[in-house]
Amino acid sequence: MDTTTDTRLEDAHKALTDGIAALVSSDDWKRYLATQSRFHKYSFGNVMWLMGQAITRGVDVTRFAGYRTWQSLGRQVRKGEKAFHVLAPLKFKKSVEKDGVKEDVYGIRGWRVESTFDISQTDGEPLPEVAKDLQGSSEEIRSLTAKLAAWSASRGVPVTFPARPAGETADGLYYRAGRIEVFEGMSDLQTFRVLVHEVAHSILHAKEEDRHGRPQNEVEAESTAFIVFTVLGFDASEYSFGYVAGWSEGDTKLVKSVGERIQKAAKEILSVLKKDDAAE
Ligand SMILES: [Zn+2]
Repeated sequence: MDTTTDTRLEDAHKALTDGIAALVSSDDWKRYLATQSRFHKYSFGNVMWLMGQAITRGVDVTRFAGYRTWQSLGRQVRKGEKAFHVLAPLKFKKSVEKDGVKEDVYGIRGWRVESTFDISQTDGEPLPEVAKDLQGSSEEIRSLTAKLAAWSASRGVPVTFPARPAGETADGLYYRAGRIEVFEGMSDLQTFRVLVHEVAHSILHAKEEDRHGRPQNEVEAESTAFIVFTVLGFDASEYSFGYVAGWSEGDTKLVKSVGERIQKAAKEILSVLKKDDAAE
């Protein structure tokens, strides 16, 4: 790789941070956040209980809200759907006097079981998305996909393209045991993007000490995919900006701070994909 490529990597990284900054000041982003804020953040215990109920029923679940919240989001729980259960605290408020100052304190006097429904049990308006699947298909993209998959296998991380399991919302998965799944049924360009993203995880996050929690890991993997796409001349902004902004919660500082790591990963992937090409 020459210095021209380094400049292009830096330019691509700047395009990413600029694009995210523009997105997070847009109306699309406001609509997205407004929807996100309607979803209840359940406690760890409730999440475990919900997962247990889903396993018992043999269904995959992704996003819960109460019956009326779904209605207010333009979606309706289907007739006959069985609610999932969570525990909600019964709170009480009392006034106490401390050092002559009155203040309200809250306590819990018990628990009650509340009903909640997964998005898969509802029909209606699609939720606002800021990450849109990429469209486009060509022989060139399919051969880049095959090349990267072969390289990944050669470094001990084989890639398969299975059917998407029912209810699975991820487009692909990287397993730290050393394999990648990219689900079938997407456009060639989206399939390639997902593969670059998962390969980036396998380069950046295989070692325990390189993991920085899910949000940063996702920011790094998708930023790498965006940079690889930009240098190859494909546009991933429709998907990457929203995805990276979502995981970084609109914080462009995080995207900037991981610049060096993602440029290194992008360089490694590009060196594989451009190996047979004539010199630039
Ligand atoms: Zn990921």
